[in-house]
Amino acid sequence: MNLVLLGPPGAGKGTQAVRLAEAFGLQHLSSGDLLRAERKSGTELGRRVASYMDSGALVPDDIIVEVILARVLNPTKPAGVLLDGFPRTLAQAEALDKALANASKKVDLVVSLVVPDEPIVERITGRRVCPTCGAVYHVKTLPPAKEGVCDKDSSALVHRTDDTAEVVKERLSAYHAQTRPLEDYYRGKGLMVEVDGTADVETVFQAARREISNRVGEARA
Ligand code: ADP
Ligand code: ADP
Repeated sequence: MNLVLLGPPGAGKGTQAVRLAEAFGLQHLSSGDLLRAERKSGTELGRRVASYMDSGALVPDDIIVEVILARVLNPTKPAGVLLDGFPRTLAQAEALDKALANASKKVDLVVSLVVPDEPIVERITGRRVCPTCGAVYHVKTLPPAKEGVCDKDSSALVHRTDDTAEVVKERLSAYHAQTRPLEDYYRGKGLMVEVDGTADVETVFQAARREISNRVGEARA
């Protein structure tokens, strides 16, 4: 199965994607993580996307489509993929549909994490991530056992340079202008389910898992 997680920056997509991918045996594909890995390796592509990411703008469609589609079509897990952060524009959604259709596959369900703008800045500025395993923490709501250190692999946690109040404003306006229209696109196809993303992490997970189980298939034991 191929699932898409939608929602504004800070909605909890990464947090839930890790849990849902585990529950359904899916490969977690985060477009932001893939782009950050390109930057870290100093590739030509990484250099091309840096200024967009730092300013909070979306990177051009052709770049992200090229980065992600091959991975969607060749998942490392036989069960399929859980897309986190892609698609983010109508052009990306159409490119995804076309590529999947050519491979006799499809998007099976889109889970939208609904969070209003108000809590987003607090969530994003307090976010800390593990550069090694990708685990996501929050300084107040989801702190690691030892401050600044990943619970899983003891790496030093990082504060993303685009996780500032200033850049979040840009990311939110990109979301409203370019990504929100995707909700109607998927609703029109009967693929959209909405989950209240303001509840606590476990409640959001249970609600999303239930929707996916009901609509697409059972979670692993
Ligand atoms: P968040 O998890 O807070 O929503 P991401 O890590 O997904 O943020 O994305 C960080 C940045 O990477 C975005 O601001 C954008 O510049 C770029 N990016 C990620 N995914 C996409 C995409 N599908 N299309 C265009 N740009 C993207
Ligand atoms: P996204 O991938 O959508 O940008 P993240 O999963 O990285 O969002 O979450 C953004 C921040 O909000 C992180 O610091 C995370 O710990 C926190 N967070 C995620 N889900 C919740 C929740 N349900 N309640 C409170 N904080 C949350």
